[in-house]
Amino acid sequence: MIERVGITTTIPQEVIWAAGKIPVDLNNLFLASDENDEFLARAYRDGYPRTICAWIAGIYGAVLERDDIDTVVFVSQGDCSNTHALAETLEDRGIRVIPFAFPYDGNRHLLHAEILNLARIFEVPWNKVEEWFFRLDEPRRLVRRIDEMAHIENKITSIENHLWHVSTSDFNGNINEFSHECRGLIREAELRPPIIDRLRLGYIGVPPIFPEIFTFLDDLGARVVFTEVQRQFSIPFIEDDILTAYAQYTYPTSVFRRIADIYDKIKARKLDGIIHYTQSFCFRQIEDLLFKKYLPVPVLTIEGESQFELDERTRVRIEAFVEMLAQK
Ligand code: SF4
Repeated sequence: MIERVGITTTIPQEVIWAAGKIPVDLNNLFLASDENDEFLARAYRDGYPRTICAWIAGIYGAVLERDDIDTVVFVSQGDCSNTHALAETLEDRGIRVIPFAFPYDGNRHLLHAEILNLARIFEVPWNKVEEWFFRLDEPRRLVRRIDEMAHIENKITSIENHLWHVSTSDFNGNINEFSHECRGLIREAELRPPIIDRLRLGYIGVPPIFPEIFTFLDDLGARVVFTEVQRQFSIPFIEDDILTAYAQYTYPTSVFRRIADIYDKIKARKLDGIIHYTQSFCFRQIEDLLFKKYLPVPVLTIEGESQFELDERTRVRIEAFVEMLAQK
């Protein structure tokens, strides 16, 4: 059986594919499972504090409860210090943990050193890593096409946009199947009439613990045509080499690089407003004040904790925000 390697967020997954292994985004594994409440319960039973981000507790529980992942690559710089403790507690339970550090400013030389180090650990030569960068071009190109169909042709819903982008961190573990399904959606959506929107929104921040928010927004006629972090996971930059591509990946770097990207998309995609999702107990909540300070459209900040359904209070706040923007 092909070995599955857990990842705590998007990393240069080319290295793992080149090593003949399959990357598994542990966030998606946690959220997509029917057992996600049990994964959280396992973390709390083992002593995780209740005041820790649910993604961290959920990943911990998922790895230990499922028992089919022995190695985890964790992002030791660019995500959060909770991930450090996650890695330490997994290591304590016998999981092999491998750090990967994104340079804060996207520095190409440091990035090169980090990818080389990961390749050394997985015993993969550099040319194989580059080869896989080109092999992943096809599914990435298909997701870029879905993104274009969302914001230019208005034929892709918010939930489709979210799901296809967020899955690019590991391509659901099967590149051919992923590409095949992508092509199917593109063919089907090309035949749809364009969606008539009341509003065009952007979604920024980490992916939500309640993806239902996207269907809710679709039902309100406030379609999300830009998903910031999910889009970044897809490494959407058209480049000829892996370093230039990953050097532009904003999520694990300075918030000001993220703001520049979001600002650009607000203008280019003619967005009416932004929904900023924050996770309870996450340091990124502090960055909300910078988004509100520098983004040129209204920003609604919402917060998710460990409920996987959209709660009534958040629904009401979103409805009020949409009405406010529609009246403007
Ligand atoms: S949501 Fe925040 S606290 Fe949770 S894993 Fe992501 S960066 Fe860390």
